[in-house]
Amino acid sequence: MDLSGSPESQGFEEVRAARPGPSRPGAANISIDFTTRHTLNPATGQPLGEVPVSTQEDVNTAVQHARQAFKTWSKTTYAERGKLLAAYADAIEHHLEDLQNLLVQEQGKPLGLAGIEFGVTLRWLRAFATMEVKEEILDENDERTIYQTFPPLGVCGGIVPWNWPILLGLGKVAPALLTSNTMILKPSPFTPYCGLKLGEIAMSIFPPGVFQVLSGGDDLGPMFTEHPDIDKIAFTGSIETGKKVMMSCAKTLKRVTLELGGNDPAIICEDVDIAKIVPKIATMAFMNSGQICMLIKRLYIHEKIYDEFRDAMVAFTKTIKTGNGFEPDVMVGPLQNSMQYEKVKDLYAEIGKCSWKTAFGGEIQEAAQGYFITPAIIDNPPDDSRIVTEEPFGPIVPLLKWRDESDVLERANSGKTGLGASVWSRDLARAERMARQVSAGSVWVNSHFDVAPNVPFGGHKWSGIGSEWGQTGLKAYCNSTSLWLWKKVFED
Ligand code: NAD
Repeated sequence: MDLSGSPESQGFEEVRAARPGPSRPGAANISIDFTTRHTLNPATGQPLGEVPVSTQEDVNTAVQHARQAFKTWSKTTYAERGKLLAAYADAIEHHLEDLQNLLVQEQGKPLGLAGIEFGVTLRWLRAFATMEVKEEILDENDERTIYQTFPPLGVCGGIVPWNWPILLGLGKVAPALLTSNTMILKPSPFTPYCGLKLGEIAMSIFPPGVFQVLSGGDDLGPMFTEHPDIDKIAFTGSIETGKKVMMSCAKTLKRVTLELGGNDPAIICEDVDIAKIVPKIATMAFMNSGQICMLIKRLYIHEKIYDEFRDAMVAFTKTIKTGNGFEPDVMVGPLQNSMQYEKVKDLYAEIGKCSWKTAFGGEIQEAAQGYFITPAIIDNPPDDSRIVTEEPFGPIVPLLKWRDESDVLERANSGKTGLGASVWSRDLARAERMARQVSAGSVWVNSHFDVAPNVPFGGHKWSGIGSEWGQTGLKAYCNSTSLWLWKKVFED
């Protein structure tokens, strides 16, 4: 698809439009001049609907509403808030079919995967609705009691990427609201539609100002991070942007949680059942067109089984269907936007330039209407090649050989990322021993990319700061107060 040179070359365009303002009883209709923009369906190149481009004034207004709402919301109980979160999950479920279709149109992922993302998000909302951060008694005697309490932070801003926007969005909103904060969510400029719809649905559930959604362009994120009256930013996105977010938040000493990029290794030992694990491993490499932070991005295979494993992986990958997410049996949809498409194309161009051997050559489908690239498997490239050291965020994965346990652990731990990692072996003691030596926020034995609402999720090194989910994640939306209560000071 050639959109180069067109205003839509980044995958969206902006237009100024005079629109009638909202009609209120007793007030004349007003006309407001505001900017809208739209994105393109990545599978067809067709424009999607118009959404607002929020301004600094809109951010200020939303923050004021959130601050006002915080006064009463922070006085509600866990039970009251949990009930509303559960009601919100029900309300989303009521619109599920439309929302899943919208997600396929704006994000490109296959319909089944859109169903999985929404299904997981609903489970998360319902699980958070039952969770609580309990205050603790740290010490107690006749004279005094010392409590640790966990009051909310205040107004939070959630900033979300385009690859997994529903879970990563509401996976921030639910813990923030449950712990009695208010939140303003900012979807990615590439995928604003479901986020706005979820904000609209929330209006019928939560009190005004408790949860708001603002869409906009590239300048909207900095308006959040710079705002003096936002207390915390929960950010998911690239390492590069994460660093900017942290620098910006430092000016007002905002709390920050950063969930950033990964380059997950999977270490395959020589004793595995190849036929059993290859379908799962290939799926965990190519799902969502490789555009998930915690997919398998480097596969270290023991030399004794390397050839057999490679051939089985190629045989499975040949069965993977690439296409429009609405077509049946598609596993690999389009890349989400032109920027990502160009990045992955550039990496595929390296195959020829660097003489990497391909076990399975991917194809860039230039003639297609959308941003389609089929999966590629690179056969034992050098450890310092881009395909090993960079996060591709596309359907391409390198296979690498290993012989020595300590050597493969060193290679797995090399580089600046540490998001997820896995070790695969029948020998659980050996696999656990190896897993404990990998530096990553989540490490799995005989699995990859398992997550749960009660389990913390985060990254080591440049893959992030802090955690989301679980008690650790809930506490990241709280201050800590040590409350010393002296009981006998005024006793005679
Ligand atoms: P990105 O960093 O370009 O954008 C993420 C969000 O930040 C978007 O909403 C964007 O509008 C906003 N943003 C851009 N510049 C900003 C600034 N200066 N200040 C504040 N906000 C700003 O990332 P992306 O391309 O949307 O997403 C892909 C990246 O996200 C990959 O690196 C992937 O690994 C990572 N990711 C990480 C996780 C995780 O949980 N660790 C999950 C999904 C994706």
